[in-house]
Amino acid sequence: MLRVVVLGAAAGGGVPQWNCGCAICRAARSDSRQQRTQASIALSADGAHWFLINASPDVRQQITATPQLHPKPGALRHSPIAGVILTNGEIDAVAGLLSMRESSPFSIYAHPKVLAILKANSIFDVLNEKYVRRVPLTLETSFEPALPDGSPSGLEVLPFAAPGKAAWYLEGRDHPGGLAGAGDTIGLRVEDKATGRYFYFLAACAEVTEQLKARLAGAPLVFFDGTVWRDDEMILAGLGNKTGQSMGHVAMSGASGAMAALAGLDIDRKVFLHINNSNPALLPTSAERRTAEQAGWQIPMDGTEIVL
Ligand SMILES: [Zn+2]
Repeated sequence: MLRVVVLGAAAGGGVPQWNCGCAICRAARSDSRQQRTQASIALSADGAHWFLINASPDVRQQITATPQLHPKPGALRHSPIAGVILTNGEIDAVAGLLSMRESSPFSIYAHPKVLAILKANSIFDVLNEKYVRRVPLTLETSFEPALPDGSPSGLEVLPFAAPGKAAWYLEGRDHPGGLAGAGDTIGLRVEDKATGRYFYFLAACAEVTEQLKARLAGAPLVFFDGTVWRDDEMILAGLGNKTGQSMGHVAMSGASGAMAALAGLDIDRKVFLHINNSNPALLPTSAERRTAEQAGWQIPMDGTEIVL
C-alpha cells in the first residue's frame, strides 16, 4: 500500500505569508482552517518508514502535526523519516533541511545540479555527511530509496526532467552545478513495488508538453503545480511584478493551463500543490475553487492523506 500525506500545499511564503495583507492571507489569519504550510508530501510503502518530497521551511511544524513522522515510542532519538527527495533547489524545497540536523541518519536524493547548490552553501554542512548521505539522481533512471540500515524501502522512484528553471536566487549568477542541461526542476514517478500502484509529483512545471501528457495519462494520482490561477495574477493584485511563467509555473486556468492540458487524460485523482497565496482557488467559496473542483481537481488541506 502506498501512503501519502500532504504535509503542506502552499507555495513559497505559505498562507498567510508573513508580510502579506492580501484578501486571501487576511482570510487565513482569521480562520486557521484556511492556513497552509509550504509544499511537501510524505510517502511510505510500509507505513513505518517515510520519505519526504522536498523539505519546506515549515518542516518542523509539519512533522509535529503528522503523528506518522514522530519518533517511535520509547526511543530517545529516532525519526521515521528515512530520506528526503528534492525536486528543485528553491528555498521552499530545501530550507527545511536545516531543521533536520542533530545527527539523525537519512539520505538526501537530488539531481547533481541541486546537490551542487547544497554543496556551494556551507550552511548545509550542518547535515554531516557521516549521517546524511547525498545520493545523486540520474534522469530517466529509476532507483529504490534505502532505509537507514541499507534495507530496501519497497519504493521505486523515477526522476524525469520537468519544464522549469533554476532557483530564482541563482538568476544572473553562476550556477554551482553548471548552466547547461536539465535537472534544476524534476518530476517524480513513485511506485509501490509490491502493488504496482503509483503517482506523479510535479509541484513545479512551466509547461505541459505532449510528452508530459503521454507520461501522465492513466495515472492513479497526480500532484501538480498549482502556483497561480492565471499567469498575471500577482501583477493584477498589486503583489509584485512576476508572472507565473517567469517563475517557472504554468497557470491552473486558461487554454494552455494545467486544467485544460490534463483534461481527458484518464487520471483518477488530480491534486494541486504549491498554491501561491495570490491564488483565488484557495478561497473555499470562490468561483475559481468551484471551477477547479468541477474540472476534477482537489485543493488539499494540509494533512490530507491518500492511500493508493
Ligand atoms: Zn497574500
